[in-house]
Amino acid sequence: MNDMTDIPAYDDGNIFAKILRGEIPSHKVYENDDCIAFMDVMPQAPGHTLVVPKAPSRNLLDADNDTLRKLLPFVRRIARAVETAFDADGITINQFNEAAGGQTVFHLHFHVIPRHDGVALKRHEGGMESTDVLEANADKIRTALKTTPKD
Ligand code: AMP
Repeated sequence: MNDMTDIPAYDDGNIFAKILRGEIPSHKVYENDDCIAFMDVMPQAPGHTLVVPKAPSRNLLDADNDTLRKLLPFVRRIARAVETAFDADGITINQFNEAAGGQTVFHLHFHVIPRHDGVALKRHEGGMESTDVLEANADKIRTALKTTPKD
C-alpha cells in the first residue's frame, strides 16, 4: 500500500512503464524531461492522445505535487496541438483512478481527445487502430506542435 492513500503501491510492470523504458514501441508525439505524449492504440476518436508523466505514480491519488505541477502545462500544450491538428470544436480530457473509476493501466495518464460537434466518442478501449493511421495522426500533432505556444 502507498503511505499517502489506501490505494495499492505502484507496479512498474504496467504497459506505460514498459513504453517509458523503451521495452515496447509507441507512436510518440512529443516528450520532455518529465512527460511524454503518444497515441492511444484504441482511440475513442482520431487523434486520441495519452499524456504520461515519467515519474512513477499509479494515478492522481498518489502522484506527488512536483509531478502534477509539470504535467498540467504539458497536457494543455498537447491539447492545443491536438485541437489544431484535427480542427477540433473542443477537447475532452479524461483521467481515471482505480478500476472502479475506469482505470485499466496503472500509471498516471491523461486522455486528450479531439471532439467535433455532434460526433459521439467511440467506446473506451473499443478497437485497435492500424499502425499507419496512428502514425499519420501522430505526425499531424507533431506538425501542429511546431506552431503551438509552449505556455
Ligand atoms: P485507462 O487506464 O482506462 O485510462 O485507459 C488506458 C488506455 O491505454 C486505453 O485507452 C487503451 O486504449 C490505452 N492503451 C493500452 N495499451 C496501450 C499501448 N500499448 N499504447 C498506447 N495506448 C495503450
